Amino acid sequence: MIRKLAIIGVGLIGGSLARALRERGQVQEIVGFGRSLGNLQKAVELGVIDSAAVSVADAVHGADMVVVAVPVGSMEDIFSQLVPVLSEDAVVTDVGSVKRAVVDVARRSLGSRFGAFVPGHPIAGAEHSGVLASREQLFEKHRVILTPEAETDAAAVVRVRAMWQVTGAEVMTLSVEQHDEILAACSHLPHMLAYGLVDMLVRRDDHRATFELAAGGFRDFTRIASSDPVMWRDICLANREALARVLQDFRDNLDALTDAIVRGDGDWLVKTFERAKRARDTYIKREE
Ligand code: NAP
Repeated sequence: MIRKLAIIGVGLIGGSLARALRERGQVQEIVGFGRSLGNLQKAVELGVIDSAAVSVADAVHGADMVVVAVPVGSMEDIFSQLVPVLSEDAVVTDVGSVKRAVVDVARRSLGSRFGAFVPGHPIAGAEHSGVLASREQLFEKHRVILTPEAETDAAAVVRVRAMWQVTGAEVMTLSVEQHDEILAACSHLPHMLAYGLVDMLVRRDDHRATFELAAGGFRDFTRIASSDPVMWRDICLANREALARVLQDFRDNLDALTDAIVRGDGDWLVKTFERAKRARDTYIKREE
């Protein structure tokens, strides 16, 4: 049971976590802090938070669990305000999609309280943002990755793990480097491809006809290009090295695919498509 939960950034992820914990009776009080008063008022009206704080200090005062759920590029600003107001028993965690950059910022900002910080990332989300998009079941049957460092307090990890398990999530642990490398491949790269494809097509002279004739496949493939641009700018910049590496891999593979098409190598194409189809079919079956 959490006594006071401070959610910094009451959007899709922060709002969904608050909803899930409240619905399951695991929290006594939820205080939210954010950028715009409008979003926080909406969060109070919806019953996602009990009250809106006027500052980070106000939100965090007396809290035993602090969840930082703002875009990765805004985390430094938040972490730098925490130390003077953190309770003795407070645990701090985040939900950022990149871990090395966040962990470095947290280590710098939290100083001697860094041990109370448990880096986290729920592998669940949507292309919609804000508290209106939040929902209580968002994390059910999804994974949450924790990336504790050597200095991370083991008891803090236990508390953050228990919090996420209550939401119905399966919690696993990875190193920061493993997390950033794997997420660059399975999440950040697909977002780049979706944004890149839509942007390329919209700049063509025949873009009106192209979009009019696009069907379900285009819709499925490009869904994530509706994601928040600022959030994705921050993720790209924060994970730029791993993302650049995997983009180069993709470019090499695209070159090989282009060569096969140009030389009319049907066998190569079938072999490649069969391998990809097998892998995706297996992935889908496992997820069901
Ligand atoms: P979101 O719906 O846009 O929510 C972010 C919230 O943070 C908003 O309520 C925003 O307030 C607030 N905020 C932004 N900058 C702030 C600042 N400088 N100070 C205080 N509050 C600030 O975004 P989200 O999708 O929940 O993403 C939040 C975090 O979760 C990101 O770090 C992201 O990488 C991570 N994440 C996202 C997903 C996903 O699929 N969306 C999945 C896993 C993890 P206003 O509403 O007033 O602007």
